[in-house]
Amino acid sequence: MRLRQVLWLFAALPLISDSSAQMFKPSMREQVKIGKRASEEIRKKEHALPDDDPRVKLLREIGERLVAQIPEKERKDKPWVYTFDVIQSRQINAFALPGGPVFFYTGLLDRLTTVDQIAGIVGHEIVHVRKEHWARDYSKTLEQQGLILLGGLLLGVNSTLMQGASLVETYGLALPRSRHAETESDKIGYQMMVDAGYNPQGMIDVFRMLNETAGSKPPEFMSSHPDEKKRIRALEEFVAKNPKAFPPQRPIPVEARSPYLAFLQVRGFVVGR
Ligand SMILES: [Zn+2]
Repeated sequence: MRLRQVLWLFAALPLISDSSAQMFKPSMREQVKIGKRASEEIRKKEHALPDDDPRVKLLREIGERLVAQIPEKERKDKPWVYTFDVIQSRQINAFALPGGPVFFYTGLLDRLTTVDQIAGIVGHEIVHVRKEHWARDYSKTLEQQGLILLGGLLLGVNSTLMQGASLVETYGLALPRSRHAETESDKIGYQMMVDAGYNPQGMIDVFRMLNETAGSKPPEFMSSHPDEKKRIRALEEFVAKNPKAFPPQRPIPVEARSPYLAFLQVRGFVVGR
C-alpha cells in the first residue's frame, strides 16, 4: 500500500463512505504496472504471434487508429500504454488488461470477416482501459470484503508472483465487468469506431454472431447476462439515429486471415461481408 493511501486510510477510517472505494482505486502507475506484468505472464505462458505476422500488424493498425480518436487532453492526462497482441489459441476471446495491454485470440479472429468487426471489439476493450473499469471493480471489491487493511495492491502483486500464482487469475484481470462497464464500453467504443471511419455495423454483427454461438463460456465482451440482447438493440439504435452514411465494411485482407480461410477465399469460397 502506498504511503499516501495509508495516511488517507487512517485519516478517513472513522467515516468510511461511498468515496472510500474511490480512495483505494489503484493509481494510473499501479494499473500500468500490474497490466504490464500480467501481459508478460500471458506472453510467456501462451503462444503470442510474432510482430511480423500479418494478423498482429492488422490488429495494431486498427488499435492505433482507434486510440488516435481519444481526445488529446485525455491522452496527455492519462497516458495508458496500449499494446495489441494476438495469441494462437482456439479460445473465442479478446480482453484488455488494466493500463493498456489488449489481447485477441486467433479462435475469435478466425470467425471474423471484416476489419470493422475487429475494430468493434478492440474499441470496446480500449474503453475498459480508458475508464479504468478493472481498478474501479477492484477497489469496490476490497471495500465490500473489508480487505482494505490486508495489504496494498503492489504488495499483493509481488507476493502473488513470488508464489508463482497467476496475476490474471488472482486479480480477475480478464473477467467480464459489471453491466454498467459493458454498456459504457459499448457506447464509447461505438463512438470511437465511427470517429475512426469504421462501419459500426461490424460491432453489431460480431456481438450478434457471438451471442448466438459462444456457448457456455462467452468471451469477456459477451457475458451470458440476459441483457446482452438489450446491448445489441442499443447499438442498433445508435446506428439508426446516426444521420451519417457509414463506409461499407472492408473485408479482412487475405494475408491476415487464418490460413484455412485464406485458402478458401483464394478459391472463391469465402467473400468478405
Ligand atoms: Zn467488456
